[in-house]
Amino acid sequence: MQKLTAQRQAILDMINRSDKHWDADDVAYALKEEGISIGIATVYRGLAALADQGLIESIQLADKKRYERADKAHHDHLICTRCGSIEEFCEPEIESLQDKVAAERGFKIEGHQLLLFGLCKTCKAEES
Ligand SMILES: [Zn+2]
Ligand SMILES: [Zn+2]
Repeated sequence: MQKLTAQRQAILDMINRSDKHWDADDVAYALKEEGISIGIATVYRGLAALADQGLIESIQLADKKRYERADKAHHDHLICTRCGSIEEFCEPEIESLQDKVAAERGFKIEGHQLLLFGLCKTCKAEES
């Protein structure tokens, strides 16, 4: 594999260090806290390149992408449209239904993402 630039390596290390779902601003801020200053455009490009190489996972939200470690077990996401919280889940029944749908259509699944948008428990409680 191609050697990563020092900047991309720093971005990758930051993401691998936690379970968070990072956007580019989060990454730039956290790096800055550690005394590593990388321009936001470089962070954006770095994140996209790392995701292309499969070194991190990306999830596409309505307004932006977020990124997380690639070595977590497969999971899907519940995304709160009010506070932005992201909860992970894995439901075996949904997973196997997807396999069934694909098998019936002769389709070979190479990956999937399931994003459920709505209100998290806290925001839902505040609303009622
Ligand atoms: Zn919420
Ligand atoms: Zn996740």
